[in-house]
Amino acid sequence: MRLKAMAKINLGLDVLGKREDGYHEVRMIMQTIRMYDILDIRKTRRPGIVLTTNLPFIPTDQRNLVYKAAQMLMEEFDVEEGLSIKLRKIIPVAAGMAGGSSDAAAAFVGVNRMFHLGLTEEQLMERAVKVGADVPYCIMRGTALAEGIGEKLTRLPEVPKCYVLIGKPGINVSTKTAYENLNLEGIGKHPDIDGLIGAIRNNDLYAMASRMENVFEPGIIRQYPVIGNIKNLMEEKGALKAVMSGSGPTVFGIFDNRDKMAAAARSLRKSGLAKTVFATDIYNRDGGVTNDK
Ligand code: ATP
Repeated sequence: MRLKAMAKINLGLDVLGKREDGYHEVRMIMQTIRMYDILDIRKTRRPGIVLTTNLPFIPTDQRNLVYKAAQMLMEEFDVEEGLSIKLRKIIPVAAGMAGGSSDAAAAFVGVNRMFHLGLTEEQLMERAVKVGADVPYCIMRGTALAEGIGEKLTRLPEVPKCYVLIGKPGINVSTKTAYENLNLEGIGKHPDIDGLIGAIRNNDLYAMASRMENVFEPGIIRQYPVIGNIKNLMEEKGALKAVMSGSGPTVFGIFDNRDKMAAAARSLRKSGLAKTVFATDIYNRDGGVTNDK
């Protein structure tokens, strides 16, 4: 069985405050894009999970979210057979694109189907949050408002047709550091998430792009100017807007024209600013949890 684990971008990201348990209260607009890891899974007679990946530096034991997700479901349902999982990573790792969370989401869906557990999407999402705050969204996919720690989801209408250019510099930004460096009292103006939702509801690409914003961006760009350079290049080359995704360092640019995006991608490659350059478009969910097209 082959599953596609889709990456996400944050069209908008705001942090409202810190809760007593240490987690942050967020308000984010999540959007799935057509960039995916591939999971090939098959049953084995030997019990247990054997996970392999094409990247030597990511763990293949319980520390991998795929392993964690599969193990959680298989234990709950006393599955006696084993599972072999081949994970092919395309989504950049630790990039703010929910790669690990999406892989875990695909594992939940795959195990449910493979062993005929009969769980609904909602029941999978309830379990998924134990693996990570973004995993329920990665099961749901499409356009959504995420609140709470990211697990309270409200589906939004599809965003207008557009093209997405991904540029990830060769640096690592830890999500933990990004939160620690965020001075909540010092935030002058928060991203206009409600305005962004309004633009999406009006199906207005230009209004949507102009309201895209990420509360982490100023602080992270101060620390890593290359992120700002990628943003500027994309906007000079015709992006309606370019914004950092999640806690970075990936930048995405939104275009209203595929040729313009392709030209911007060429310039970005030539500039050497980004280690990963990937031209794609948004993915609008069109058939529920079993749809992997
Ligand atoms: P988010 O947008 O949710 O913050 P991210 O893109 O920043 O996600 P990931 O790529 O999901 O980060 O993973 C970051 C860390 O998690 C890596 O250091 C990696 O070792 C570990 N990890 C665990 N499982 C996976 C997986 N399936 N794919 C990639 N990384 C994984």
